[in-house]
Amino acid sequence: MLSHAPRLTAVLAAAAALALAIPATAYADHDDNGTDPDNRNQAVKGFSLTTNGTNAMNQGKAELERSVITTSWGGGDIEVYDSNYGDSGWHGRTDCTNWNALWTSCDIIRVRFNTYQSKTASQWRSLGCHEFGHTADLGHRKGSNDSDNNSCMRVEIWPTHYDQHDLNAIKAGT
Ligand SMILES: [Zn+2]
Repeated sequence: MLSHAPRLTAVLAAAAALALAIPATAYADHDDNGTDPDNRNQAVKGFSLTTNGTNAMNQGKAELERSVITTSWGGGDIEVYDSNYGDSGWHGRTDCTNWNALWTSCDIIRVRFNTYQSKTASQWRSLGCHEFGHTADLGHRKGSNDSDNNSCMRVEIWPTHYDQHDLNAIKAGT
């Protein structure tokens, strides 16, 4: 979407839905309508992560660094967990656990990686890139607008980076 002006109904709807799963219904626009970061400086912390989860987190953080968002370690903005969440149908989820006072942006964004399904090292990196993309307000891409198949915001393939379209969208949306 082009505007990030607060719209209460949309915010409430997003709050009700909260979780953004992969794979899930693809979003038509380039905004996940749920986890707008509250600023462009995001402190990241992982909580008792597995090696795979750590690798995913590191990839996501590094990919954010390619955008207008700067990152640091320490937490308070992006908090990362992994666990065997079971056969829940999703590899990763990103939601907001602490909205700002007006519910227009998210102070603390939670990222969860599901260890239930086996994933290759590259798929773990893709998952980290993908979920951290949601923390930067990116929605899903699809083949029709990612014809060169190089965006990790795709849900059916596993690229490991943001493409220029993603980076531009982060700049426009945060
Ligand atoms: Zn997603």
